[in-house]
Amino acid sequence: MESVAKQTGLPVDIVRQINEPIAKRLAEQDAVDAAERSMRKAEAKIMREQYPCPLCSTGHAEPHDCDTFLPLGFIHGGERDGQMDGFWCHPYFCSCSNQRCIACNIFPSKSREEAVERFCAGDFAHEDDFIELGTGKRYHYSQYGIEQQILRYLAQWNASQVKQLGFDPKLVDTLAMQRTLDRMGDKYAGVFDTTLLCPNCGMKGEYRKAISPITHTKTWWRVGCPYCKTRTRYSFPSQKEASEAFETGKLEKKPTILQEGKR
Ligand SMILES: [Zn+2]
Ligand SMILES: [Zn+2]
Ligand SMILES: [Zn+2]
Repeated sequence: MESVAKQTGLPVDIVRQINEPIAKRLAEQDAVDAAERSMRKAEAKIMREQYPCPLCSTGHAEPHDCDTFLPLGFIHGGERDGQMDGFWCHPYFCSCSNQRCIACNIFPSKSREEAVERFCAGDFAHEDDFIELGTGKRYHYSQYGIEQQILRYLAQWNASQVKQLGFDPKLVDTLAMQRTLDRMGDKYAGVFDTTLLCPNCGMKGEYRKAISPITHTKTWWRVGCPYCKTRTRYSFPSQKEASEAFETGKLEKKPTILQEGKR
């Protein structure tokens, strides 16, 4: 407190008067934090005892839910204003509190209780629908949707772990194999990478984020060479269009969307 007084030039008494309520508030906050921590610990203990994870020995059921917007299809082709097609729902899921355990419900449940019940029974692949809020319309994963889910898990876990969730084991193996082959393909392609070669010096150019002249957000692309500073004069809504202009040396080329708009 003396050092504060010295720094501020205020008398020690004043500094003490200012400081006292602050210190008191901090002490109170510490006490509240400690109480909350021990409450959470006690809760976790009860959850471990009553809702243990069927796959690992340390985790327990951790239900979660929230309002979710699910797109029905992704719109390709750069920027597009307006609404994406999709629906709002409020799915209930449950996963293991142990971050190193894969256990989790793959499909949504209608309530927190149902989600926890399926989780604890190891019924992770119990098929169920997403239900649109308001209309009650039901949406079921397509085969493609299920494959996307499996791929999502395969990005983080190995095939035998993913099978533990109850997916069709043959399908998991096939997708895991495809993934491996795709990755190897990428590597081979990488050895002979001929993309983005600078038309001026032959070194490899790089993508740079650029401001869209339409929305004024940083969502467009330009390609530039870090070695000789050659770059496309304009930016483009897609990396593909930007790289084509760069690789073919058409550095003055305007993006198609602007060419059309001007005429
Ligand atoms: Zn677990
Ligand atoms: Zn079931
Ligand atoms: Zn260059």
